[in-house]
Amino acid sequence: MLLNSLLLLTSLLRPIAGCEDHDWTSPVLGGYVDHSMMRRHDLSKRIQPTALKTPAQQIKDLHWGQINFLHTTDTHGWLAGHLLDENYSADYGDFADFVQKMKAKADRLGVDLLLIDSGDLHDGTGFGDITKPNGKLTVPIFQRLPYDLLSIGNHELYTTPIANDTYHNFAPHWGGRYLTSNVEFNDTGVLKPFSQRYAYWETKQGIRIMSFAFIFNFTGNSNATVVTPVGTAVKQSWFQEQVKRTDIDMFLVAGHITLRGSTEWNLIYSAIREHHPTIPISIFGGHRHVRDSVIFDANAVGIASGRYCETVGWLSIDGLPSSVTRAKSPQGNNATKITAKPSAIPGVTPNNQSDLSYTRQYLDFNRFSFEHHTGTTEATFNTSLGTNITEKITSDIDSLPSLTTKLGCVPDSYYLSRYPITSNQSLFNYLTTVVFPKVVVDPKRTNMSRIVLTNTGGFRYDLLKGPFTIDNAYQTNPYQNYWLRMTAPWSVAKNLLANMQTDKVYKKRGEPATANGTTIVKTEGYVTHDDFGSDGDNVVHIDQGSAETPHYVQANVSVDGIGDDTLVDVYGTSFFTPAAGKYLTGNTSDWVSADGNFSSFDTLPRMAQQFWSKDC
Ligand SMILES: [Zn+2]
Repeated sequence: MLLNSLLLLTSLLRPIAGCEDHDWTSPVLGGYVDHSMMRRHDLSKRIQPTALKTPAQQIKDLHWGQINFLHTTDTHGWLAGHLLDENYSADYGDFADFVQKMKAKADRLGVDLLLIDSGDLHDGTGFGDITKPNGKLTVPIFQRLPYDLLSIGNHELYTTPIANDTYHNFAPHWGGRYLTSNVEFNDTGVLKPFSQRYAYWETKQGIRIMSFAFIFNFTGNSNATVVTPVGTAVKQSWFQEQVKRTDIDMFLVAGHITLRGSTEWNLIYSAIREHHPTIPISIFGGHRHVRDSVIFDANAVGIASGRYCETVGWLSIDGLPSSVTRAKSPQGNNATKITAKPSAIPGVTPNNQSDLSYTRQYLDFNRFSFEHHTGTTEATFNTSLGTNITEKITSDIDSLPSLTTKLGCVPDSYYLSRYPITSNQSLFNYLTTVVFPKVVVDPKRTNMSRIVLTNTGGFRYDLLKGPFTIDNAYQTNPYQNYWLRMTAPWSVAKNLLANMQTDKVYKKRGEPATANGTTIVKTEGYVTHDDFGSDGDNVVHIDQGSAETPHYVQANVSVDGIGDDTLVDVYGTSFFTPAAGKYLTGNTSDWVSADGNFSSFDTLPRMAQQFWSKDC
């Protein structure tokens, strides 16, 4: 099965008419927001019209190897870019022009450049989530990029409509490069491979590639699909037949799997190494939403490239013999050679001798960066490919007025994890000291002493200074869990927060690792430490550290000096009130609706409409 990558790429370039992430249910728009009251907020220029301009920054030049990779993962619908963060202000039109120019540069240099994605296209912005089906506008835009290899993510599998759309429409688009090595589709009772399980092809420069793409051992999928554990999949006959082949020069494995410390990656790596002790293996991970790179051995390297269209990963390899590739090293085989790192994978003999050398970089997703690496300027960067995509994004968003209507102006920037929750720049500090006391209260019980508890895991992104739209509401907290209220004595209510922090059932997903992953920084962006060292961030950012977030935070309103027998109102969302209820004993009421259908998703829009300035 030899695919012709040249023909495939040509056809894909043709313009056509489009943390870990568990505990998800797709939100639906509704609840508090009164759409008839919304005003249009004018948008019109490339990047996206209202995006902030990126200031000049020091950018490192890339080292081009014989084969090179651009990598995205966990885009989650952020194809319009980050309008309020100048570090990541490019949109997918800008990215398309970047990719096209980088591929042309690879051709001029006589080397290979492949574009790879590791899944999770859905859930995370209003642009992606407000439509039915979810991704109706964002997925066709993503499809205009010339990806060479793609894997599925868990956000393609939670709901049956998204799984159906991915199976019937998205996967077939890629001509055999959207691989699902361990997912099957339940087609009216018959299990079929979700898409091709592997791909074998030859690159432009003659490298014979064997590719797989896996998802971690995910169990939250709807019954439209079956996920086979990775350890089972690599023992299946189709995998064994392919992995034993001797006509392979390099393995490329994409996977929606946390790169570092993963049982699944270790199983895939060792299943290949069992038959090929030294053949190069290039691994492209995701799911954890961090920048990271892991050295498996001297010929096996993995990269993870962040999240939300903030990061483009870059990997280069030199040192391949002329029997493997026609490409010559444009800048010499003088990048990092891996010699000391032993494989820690049980049963695998470490391969520490290699002629290969590697570089990896994490590019910021902005025009300034894209222009730098393509040797262009603002005037010479654009082509009709990217401009058309940008205009489509703008017109698509314009067709959804609720996405661009300004509900109010966020008065300052409040960050998810850059600052400790005691800081007034922490989102959780702002929520518990300002937002919840003002807007989360039963209108008939405003005089009651009360506490308002929320799980922190429901919040997915910063709340940045500037116009606040429904799109921002989706980005910050997309969950539609209703606010509930019960009454309980202060003697038990005062201990609720401490009890919930250690509650086993409803505890938040694990925080991204900071020791080896990415640390969010204050003024500029990411500072990453990985297996190659600390020089991976393509733009050098100022490191302000990061803060651990507890599982829950709480607002206290009028509770000073009250006695243990005083009855107080306890507010929480339906996501965790079943767990909280067991800590509230004695003279309590049942959980009741706090305020009709007022939900977690509606909280910030209500704050915006009632309390924030409309002038920004
Ligand atoms: Zn994700």
